[in-house]
Formats: sequence, structure tokens, C-alpha cells
Amino acid sequence: MPNRKNLFFFYKRTPEMEEKVSSLRDLAHRHDFEIVDQVDKANIIVSIGGDNAFLQALRKTNFKDDCLYVGVNTEDIGFYTDFTIQEVDKMMASMSSEEVEVRKYSTIEVKIDEEKPYYCINECSIRSNVIKTLVIEVFIDNENFETFRGDGIIVSTPTGSTAYNKSVRGAIVDPRLPSMQVSEIASINNNDYRTLGTSFLLSNTRTLKLEIVQDGNDFPIIGLDNEAMSIRHAKQLEIKVSPRQIKVLKLKNNSFWEKVQRKFL
Ligand code: NAP
Ligand code: MN
Repeated sequence: MPNRKNLFFFYKRTPEMEEKVSSLRDLAHRHDFEIVDQVDKANIIVSIGGDNAFLQALRKTNFKDDCLYVGVNTEDIGFYTDFTIQEVDKMMASMSSEEVEVRKYSTIEVKIDEEKPYYCINECSIRSNVIKTLVIEVFIDNENFETFRGDGIIVSTPTGSTAYNKSVRGAIVDPRLPSMQVSEIASINNNDYRTLGTSFLLSNTRTLKLEIVQDGNDFPIIGLDNEAMSIRHAKQLEIKVSPRQIKVLKLKNNSFWEKVQRKFL
């Protein structure tokens, strides 16, 4: 990556983190990187923290598709954080060599009512905010598919399939399959309400529409990865696989399935 030299560090500004990042800065200088303090001048964005810091880094920097993202974990490596802070030397060295692989992560695009789209790398979730259930009309490509009643719905990317989606028994999806998975959270199934009851995968040519039935429980929580939206009165969500892909620096011998095995088996 000879022409990628401008580094931006994304981290929580605590004294403890400042100390960790200061040694990273020195190291970056020694490897001939330029450290910038404005994200729009960066072509490499290094997030320091856990997976949650990485998710925040993406959201706060607007899912830039012209940057390379790097996840440095202050504890153990995670799903998006391929390096630990102890091995940054290795990371810096590999950023300037051939050792690295840049993987493209696909995202989903979520349009809430008529707003501009938001991006997610894990999932978009919609959940009841109160004990009362939520009713959602589910449309696939504008055809009414089912009427959902229950706690909520999760729409996950392949790399997000190991997160929230997995806790509701969704399948783990190979990131090479450009798709999104729809999973239910505690659906009610009876003679009035019937849903599929299992997760399903939609291809990248489909559009999913979730129409919130305005029956008094119309203040659901909309989650975009690890951020809750403050939209008070959403009526509908339109979700599709986005053409926008996020480039992330990875170690060569650290495939998705190796991560799955390491974390769960
Ligand atoms: P959190 O509540 O602190 O952490 C949730 C857990 O999910 C952490 O162990 C986190 O790893 C892990 N995680 C995040 N992305 C993952 C992925 N793609 N594959 C496997 N594990 C993943 O929140 P957070 O760290 O900010 O993460 C936000 C994510 O939490 C959301 O996007 C959602 O997927 C998930 N979540 C799960 C549930 C549930 O399972 N019941 C409920 C709400 C949200 P780290 O330890 O590395 O942070
Ligand atoms: Mn976390």
C-alpha cells in the first residue's frame, strides 16, 4: 500500500487510551506514516478498542469506502479487530508489505421513512421499546410477505450473522454470499398472526420493507449496529444489500471461518 500513508486514530479519549495511542503514534512515525487529525484527510482509519469501538469508528466516519480501516483490539482479537495492541509492530510492518490481505465487507443500506440511507456492517434491528408487542408488515420487493407480531426483527449482513442474529438462532452466513438475513425476535404465532418462524436469506437484488403498524406501539427502537436511533415516529424501513463495501486490513491466515471456530468452537 505505498500510497496509503495518512493515518487517523479513532479511540475513546481517556487518559488510559491516550497513553496507549501515544506509543502507537511513535511507531507509526517510525514506519513513515503521517498522522492526521481530520478524518477526511485520512486514507487509513485505525480504530483502537474492541469490536464496539470498530463499529463506532465506522459510524462516526460515515462508512468511507475510499479508506482502509484497521481494527486494533486492546484485549483479544475480535471479529472486526484483527490485531491486538501488543502486535501493532507487526501490523505497521505488514501495512507496508505484502503480508496483508484487504478484505471487503459488505454492508446493508437502511432507509428510514424518507431520510438519507444509513449503513450497517452488523445489522439493523427493530425492537419494541415497551412490554407491548410490535406489529410489522413485512414486504419483499413490495409484495406483502407476512405480518409479524412480537418483540422485533433483525436484518443482518453475513459478517453480522455471528452477532445478534446468532443469539436468536439465525444461521452463520459466509461473507462471500452477498445477502442479508431476516431473523425474528420472539414472534407470536397463532391463528391471527403467522410468520415463517425461521430466519431467511435475501439476495442482493431484493428490497425488504418493514412497515410499522401504527397501533399505539409505534415508538420502536431502531438499532444500527451498536447505535440506537432516536427517531421517534418511524413508519417504515427499506433495507437492501448496499453496493458500498468497507475495506478492512486483515491478517492472511485469519479467515472468517477461522474466526468462527476460534470464537465459538
Ligand atoms: P456489546 O453489547 O458490548 O457486545 C455484544 C457482543 O457482540 C460482544 O461480545 C461483541 O464483541 C460482539 N460482537 C459485535 N459484533 C460482532 C460480530 N460481527 N460477530 C460476533 N460478535 C460480535 O455491544 P458492541 O460490542 O457494541 O456490539 C454491538 C453488537 O452487539 C450489535 O451490532 C449486535 O450484533 C450485538 N447485540 C447482541 C445482542 C444479543 O446477542 N442478544 C443484543 C444486542 C446487540 P466485542 O466483545 O469484541 O465487543
Ligand atoms: Mn462490546
